[in-house]
Amino acid sequence: MKRLTMQLTGTVQGVGFRPFIYTLANRLGLTGYVINNSLGVKIDVEGDDDKIKDFEKLIYSQCPPMADIITAGAIHDLPLLNYIDFKIIESSYDGSREVSITPDISTCSDCYRELNNVNDRRYHYPFINCTNCGPRFSILKDLPYDRDNTTMRVFTMCKACQQEYDDPQSRRFHAQPNACPVCGPVLSLYGTGLISQGEMALKNAIEYLKKGAIISIKGIGGFHLCCDALNDAAVKLLRVRKNRPLKPFAVMFKDIESIKKYAIPTSADIACIESRQRPVVIIKKKNDTELSPSLAPNLRQIGVILPYTPLHYLLIDTPLVMTSANISDLPIISDNDEALFKFFSLSDYILLHNRDIKNHCDDSVIKVINKYPLLIRRSRGYAAIPLRLPIKLNKKILALGGHQKSIIALGIGDIAVASQYIGDLSDTQTQDRFREVINNLTSMYGFIPDLIIHDKHPGYYSTKWALSNDCPSIGIQHHHAHAMSVMADNGVNVGDEILTVTWDGSGYGDDGNIWGGEFLLSSYHGYKRLYHFDSFRLIGGEKAVKEPKRVALSLLFHMYGRSAMDMNLGCVEIFTDTEKEILYTAWERGINSPQCSSAGRIIDGAASILNILQELSYEGQSGMMMEEMYDKSIIGFYPYEIRDGKILWQGLIKALIEDRSEITVRVTRFINTLAQIVIIIAGEVGKPIGLSGGVFQNKILTEKIIELGDKKGIPILTHKFVPPNDGGLFLGQLMCQRKD
Ligand code: ZN
Ligand code: ZN
Ligand code: FE
Repeated sequence: MKRLTMQLTGTVQGVGFRPFIYTLANRLGLTGYVINNSLGVKIDVEGDDDKIKDFEKLIYSQCPPMADIITAGAIHDLPLLNYIDFKIIESSYDGSREVSITPDISTCSDCYRELNNVNDRRYHYPFINCTNCGPRFSILKDLPYDRDNTTMRVFTMCKACQQEYDDPQSRRFHAQPNACPVCGPVLSLYGTGLISQGEMALKNAIEYLKKGAIISIKGIGGFHLCCDALNDAAVKLLRVRKNRPLKPFAVMFKDIESIKKYAIPTSADIACIESRQRPVVIIKKKNDTELSPSLAPNLRQIGVILPYTPLHYLLIDTPLVMTSANISDLPIISDNDEALFKFFSLSDYILLHNRDIKNHCDDSVIKVINKYPLLIRRSRGYAAIPLRLPIKLNKKILALGGHQKSIIALGIGDIAVASQYIGDLSDTQTQDRFREVINNLTSMYGFIPDLIIHDKHPGYYSTKWALSNDCPSIGIQHHHAHAMSVMADNGVNVGDEILTVTWDGSGYGDDGNIWGGEFLLSSYHGYKRLYHFDSFRLIGGEKAVKEPKRVALSLLFHMYGRSAMDMNLGCVEIFTDTEKEILYTAWERGINSPQCSSAGRIIDGAASILNILQELSYEGQSGMMMEEMYDKSIIGFYPYEIRDGKILWQGLIKALIEDRSEITVRVTRFINTLAQIVIIIAGEVGKPIGLSGGVFQNKILTEKIIELGDKKGIPILTHKFVPPNDGGLFLGQLMCQRKD
């Protein structure tokens, strides 16, 4: 006989952990108890030596799908207490809150079966869930995760639901959002007024979608704008209403078979698509299908997603557009009243329910690169799963992330708790969201930071917010944060140094200029800027970010001076003579034309020179268009020079202009050259390299670098748990070990 106690931390509450332990202990004939406490789950068991050993192993190998054990403080050989049976004891909390927040998880197969079983009492009930699935983070108001601390508080369970909730053998034992048609949330459909409720609302919504209507649909973390993805007129109308001319729309398909009808998912894609987080996955589209050509104009890729709530399953038959319901770049709307007020201009109908959303949460987005999933947006399904840090922080740190793809995070010990995706902090509504998210997350954890870390950019909203706060704060250089982010993401140790390639659109440099094409020798203590792209001017500043033709013109002025104005190129001819004169003067005198070393901008400039596009309709568009044109079978590079730590792109651009080959050949050679630059410099520095920054969302570039690196035996680290774009900055910020 032996006794064992364990204190488990991690995602162990609200995931069916206690019933699992109860069943396991009983199966092995062990006695004792299991209890939820402020750290997670505590277990105390007694029994045969062998059985105790099995128990310890099986906790890991058989634990519920949503559980994630981070630590398991086990104490063996305690004096026996001779327990008579095994019990689940009611929760005990002492006020400290180290329990992690469970993310929202897609409908499990058991619930799906019940949803479609005519004899089940929850047949076609759009809010069916259990301890293995359903809303969590999005309905959570406070910790611990109990029904009273969620927006389900207002629904009193009926007898049948309460019985399940109290039964340790039930799949719904302590399933906090437990509900049924008798006692739970209901649907209502609005047009100019209330049209219908319950089953009828669902029926009507399906019917209207078939007829080409645009419907705002309330989901787990916010509203989607939804329409028939096969109906081109409906999709076009949605583009007009949303004021989104070209940016691809995500499409929901009822199952993998349906996806395969319209697209070509690889096995790695399918694994991501079917994962319980249910992200949008960007995959290759088939040509000439019945899908509306307006879903992803000019692209052969498409964002696909499977249903992840019971409501989705009930709604879907043919593919549906599911794009977050917001007006252009404003934050996703999550409140009923606000939705009724704002969605009249966007949609014909609004399908609501009365389960409130406490924490908004956009769909997460993934792209498979080099056979591994890369997060483009980390939000629903991932927020707020804790991330493990390779070091233990000696302070409580609040990291504010970046500006455009804001995600904030709390650093506690060796854990980072990152928020959901907040968005672009340029507008005041997203700024409100930013403060709200900080409030919600810090208050749930009772977290008072000792230190706030923000980007060094003096103009970022997050910087201003940090400086207006009483708490001490420090600013971290943007690309150093990217660098530390990819290091932490790969568990690089303190004291180790790697070469980080941080390529993005822009970040505030330590010399006051815009950086973004950097090779930094990085550790958690600091960095050395070893190489960077030779600087050029961004004519018109922010305007140049949206108009690659301005970047192209700047590169040409840089190389050929005034005579560039007479060049026989689309990016030159698109301007009138007067415009060219004005832009030249601005360039020559540096009027509103900051110096910049951004790789993202060079890619934009090349796309413009190649006449692929002259203005961007959405961020990252030029990279995406080039991905489409890249041809793996083409080999070849353009010349370039590296001098005094500067990558002179002039030779590369000159060769690109003079190359008379087909566009695919030129695009391929251009991308290959960027990859070669990385590998040549890596070879010179002789360190492992880490890739971070928005540019590395580009599949072909990243895969080419990995291919060339493998040939030379250069280890290459890429992102695993956070996005390479500014949505991953928080992780690097938390890791900073600078002493000031
Ligand atoms: Zn379930
Ligand atoms: Zn009920
Ligand atoms: Fe960045």
